[in-house]
Amino acid sequence: MVNVLKHRFESEELKLLRSLHIRMKLLDQDFKNYMNLEKGFEGEQKYDKWLAENLSGNFHVLNDLLHEYNKNKFQTDSLIISEGKFFNINVKNYEGDYYVNGDYWHTFSGLEIKNPLLQLQRSETLLRQLLHDLGYNITVESYCIFINPKFHLYQAPMNPQFIFPTQLDRFIRKMNNLSSKLNERHSIIAEKLISLHTIESPYTRAPSYSYEKLEKSFYCGRCYSLNNYYFKERSVVCHKCGFVEGLESAVLRCVEEILLLFPNQRITTKVVQEWCKIDSDKTVRRILIKNFNYIGHGRSSYYVFP
Ligand SMILES: [Zn+2]
Repeated sequence: MVNVLKHRFESEELKLLRSLHIRMKLLDQDFKNYMNLEKGFEGEQKYDKWLAENLSGNFHVLNDLLHEYNKNKFQTDSLIISEGKFFNINVKNYEGDYYVNGDYWHTFSGLEIKNPLLQLQRSETLLRQLLHDLGYNITVESYCIFINPKFHLYQAPMNPQFIFPTQLDRFIRKMNNLSSKLNERHSIIAEKLISLHTIESPYTRAPSYSYEKLEKSFYCGRCYSLNNYYFKERSVVCHKCGFVEGLESAVLRCVEEILLLFPNQRITTKVVQEWCKIDSDKTVRRILIKNFNYIGHGRSSYYVFP
């Protein structure tokens, strides 16, 4: 049985950049960074689904780990723990035509991208050293999985560490043929690796922004279109895609967003009203009182998470 011990969530950086992209104009570099994060996360979700549907046997799976070894940070998109080996999986969601020229990878428009093999080797080395320091000498095998069926690589290197879309079936068959019995020891290593997982601050690479310059209003939770909705009973309905979200859920999503963008911002009825563009202070107050603790009196009162 495949046992996912650590699940994958959207990173704070992705949430922050998405929110800024919706509410202001990002500079080219920030926009590119944002698109890469969206695309990467979409690919990882596809991979998770594919793995859950196809991998059978005795494995632990840890997703989205960020570790540090000797001041070097390294990411493991997916770590599959089997009886005798750890599989360090890097997931790529490249789409369209690419080509390889020596050690260099390019898109057809000529853009050079980081060589995935070097990234893979780096994360494998650091992971092996980390495991060694923890007292485990375990074989680590690394693979770069290209999950997008619309990806094609010209002059692809004959490297068994690359798993192209047409090879996914064969790869999973190989994994399913592994006889793997997990014991207490595997669970202990998994727990140890999860406990060493670090969270990166979303603010280090964030573009500069200010409360005043961000466009306010609800954005759709599905298609992200801003200020393009109507109220229906106690719901917010997207004009563009028809997505229906309960008003309370939409307001709470906004509060979460305000706190992500402005961690020191006091949550008051007025701030939430302004952010969500809701006329009725009664409605906002009702939702805040229900979900938060109320601090202070009158004009200086604000809300905090219980
Ligand atoms: Zn929508």
